[in-house]
Amino acid sequence: MSIPRLAPGDRLVLATHNAGKLKEFQELFAPFGLDLVSAGQLGLPEPEETGTTFAENARLKAHAAAQATGMLALSDDSGLCVDALNGDPGVYTADWAGVPRNFDHAMKRVEDALQAANATEPGQRTASFNATMCLAHPDGRDVLYVGKVEGVMVWPPRGTIGHGYDPVFMPKGYDITFGQMPADMKHSWAPGKRGLSHRARAFDQFFEAQIEK
Ligand code: IMP
Repeated sequence: MSIPRLAPGDRLVLATHNAGKLKEFQELFAPFGLDLVSAGQLGLPEPEETGTTFAENARLKAHAAAQATGMLALSDDSGLCVDALNGDPGVYTADWAGVPRNFDHAMKRVEDALQAANATEPGQRTASFNATMCLAHPDGRDVLYVGKVEGVMVWPPRGTIGHGYDPVFMPKGYDITFGQMPADMKHSWAPGKRGLSHRARAFDQFFEAQIEK
């Protein structure tokens, strides 16, 4: 069932404890005057991500935040799917960074797996970043929006701008990684423009369906 469009001043909880994602959401939402607060800022517990798909985990996180706050909640479950690794790390992308999160270690783990699979040529190192956003109402309604960007895994890591696995992912059609792109280039989103990153592309779907113009 659908959820009515959002208008300036509406309050939304972002169901994330990930500072990198929160920053990207805030950049994308900035022009729309929505009142955003994150689950991390509210001190909400982080639900266990027991799903086996991005959609399941996105729903789980959004509903947990909507139930805990009585507010509309928006989540994002995302990850890196490497073709030569049969889609790994996929829904386990964050887990590959260990606890506490160490993305240098995570990027090296992906690279070691690619080397073990003899994936040394760019054509053998294709991958995608995927994002599924879920908007959940405290009454149990929800909607999903999906975004994907394809690219190639590079080694060694390049750039220091982004977060997570950004320095080893070079989107198709570019010769720099997400880690070398300023935020506005990584998003490349504006109304009527599809965007570049998986999160921007999911946001574009959300924007079209859900934000009052
Ligand atoms: P989750 O959605 O919280 O389960 O975690 C997604 C994982 O994918 C995290 O480890 C992120 O760092 C990583 N990830 C998601 N989006 C991006 C991105 O835009 N750049 C780099 N890493 C990302």
